Amino acid sequence: MISVVVPVFNEQDTLSELYRRLIEVLEPEEDFELVFVDDGSTDRSRGILLALHERDPRVVVLGLSRNFGHQLALTAGVDHAHGDAIVIMDADLQDPPEVIPALLAQWRAGFDVVYGVREQRRGESVFKRGTAWAFYRLMRALTPLDLPVDTGDFRLLSRRAADALVRLREQHRFVRGMARWVGFRQAAVTYQRDPRFAGRSTYSTGRMAALAFDAIFAFSKVPLRLATLLGALTALACVGYAGWAVWVKLTADQPLLGWASTIVAILLVGSVQLVCLGIIGEYIGRIHDEVRARPLYLVGDVARKDVKNLETSPIREASTPRTEEPGPAPARPRSEQGG
Ligand code: UDP
Ligand code: MG
Repeated sequence: MISVVVPVFNEQDTLSELYRRLIEVLEPEEDFELVFVDDGSTDRSRGILLALHERDPRVVVLGLSRNFGHQLALTAGVDHAHGDAIVIMDADLQDPPEVIPALLAQWRAGFDVVYGVREQRRGESVFKRGTAWAFYRLMRALTPLDLPVDTGDFRLLSRRAADALVRLREQHRFVRGMARWVGFRQAAVTYQRDPRFAGRSTYSTGRMAALAFDAIFAFSKVPLRLATLLGALTALACVGYAGWAVWVKLTADQPLLGWASTIVAILLVGSVQLVCLGIIGEYIGRIHDEVRARPLYLVGDVARKDVKNLETSPIREASTPRTEEPGPAPARPRSEQGG
């Protein structure tokens, strides 16, 4: 079975077209499910999705209890997808469904993670393209991850890659990096990224920056070493300056004027210390979030038809994925208990 996981946040004008194009592409497949994750939409998205679910038992609607953000919404979708291959894509048709057969072909050729590489990004601002360009290169410089440049979350995961991803329960998630981290056999498929079909991007500059920070702090300890480096540099500067001061004292008649140099030294050392404290704070804040170990998201309702005996729907679920499966549960990773 193929699962397509789509996080949805206020996409009412796109959903019907998205469904139509997905069905067109997936019709040749024997068995598939479309897992829409409603990430606390405030428009008509939920109603439209439930109507699709009523019409088509292959549509699964997972309603989160509020807006948790794109990365957590797609995590919820992967947690609840039952397929042997799982395709993750955006709801806004920026990731064209027509690329899915190419992803599936690589999967059938034996690859576990098949990621889309954006050959061209149409309809996005120079600012967004510029920051994205810089970010992927910075990530490559700062982390040992070997993150492929210009990839988004549009990708296919084999069952074992998805199971591996499900075991990673970190709170601050950069899913494309985590999907790289799991390893196995990975392949790329290039595609043209389309403009949004309707509506506006919900990724504000602030959210983009937050995602970039999450990515860097989750995968790199280089910022921590920056403190050592800055400390060493200021120590070096201090020694040099002290030597120069002694030399001037011994050779010149005039006394050294001290006001400017004192103020500069104080400000420099103070700001270096504050920057380093801030960096340490970023890591401590993340440790704090991990220690609290809250569930990553909470599920409100699940609308899933058991296709085999076409009855149950919708099922109410607290926060435990796959409660629809009867029988005693085997020992499961923490994820499956906490959502
Ligand atoms: N999305 C979501 N929760 C959010 C924000 C966005 O599930 O809080 C979904 C959104 O519906 C879309 C995808 O994540 O399917 C990507 O969002 P968007 O198109 O706004 O981001 P961009 O493509 O501009 O980076
Ligand atoms: Mg988009």
